[in-house]
Amino acid sequence: MAVQEWVKLSAARLEQHRDRLNRLDADIGDGDHGANMARGFAAAAARLDGAPSDQPAMELRAVGMTLLSTVGGAAGPLYGSFFIGMATALRDAGASLDAAAWARALEAGAAGVQRRGKAEPGDKTMVDALLPARDALATAAADGASLAEALRAAASAADAGADATIPLLARKGRASYLGERSVGHLDPGAVSSALLLRTAADAWGE
Ligand code: ADP
Ligand code: MG
Ligand code: MG
Repeated sequence: MAVQEWVKLSAARLEQHRDRLNRLDADIGDGDHGANMARGFAAAAARLDGAPSDQPAMELRAVGMTLLSTVGGAAGPLYGSFFIGMATALRDAGASLDAAAWARALEAGAAGVQRRGKAEPGDKTMVDALLPARDALATAAADGASLAEALRAAASAADAGADATIPLLARKGRASYLGERSVGHLDPGAVSSALLLRTAADAWGE
């Protein structure tokens, strides 16, 4: 159930935050990130509706494929790679995920994003939210935290990572065309990544 719940709740929240994400993207891009994400996750939630809910890897793969074909732009292939990477890491996982499984999945998802987009930390992209979240989740899992605790730690790290994109100069994606003018703005993709992780913490929270 949990993957479906995560994706459904993400679709609802991305719809709520559509205008805000569009405005953030209008500041340093083309103003479509909220619309792209809301459209993609609405399609992903619809795709999972009624599907078997005891196979997280298959569900995550279906989400990734749906995002690839519906989001477009830079974020579509990147989030597609994220979910497909998670799915691949969870190929042999059972129906219910624990903190260690989620840690493996987030590591593989973030690696998929970096393989596809070649962004490094500090380039002012979603990677700046995903890598701190990956590290926080791995630490929490190694410390024996519950999945809910580990995901909350990941979400908080992603929030901090997204906030920390404000002073950065964009070196990847559309925002990089602005050079110095990208400084002083939040990166919209880092904000949407943090939103997805906060939503995971809520979906798996107890
Ligand atoms: P587009 O720029 O094609 O309109 P979106 O607006 O949907 O696509 O997504 C923009 C977001 O994508 C950025 O805020 C950034 O976080 C992310 N992004 C762009 N290029 C890269 C990249 N090479 N690696 C990682 N993330 C990237
Ligand atoms: Mg855009
Ligand atoms: Mg665009």
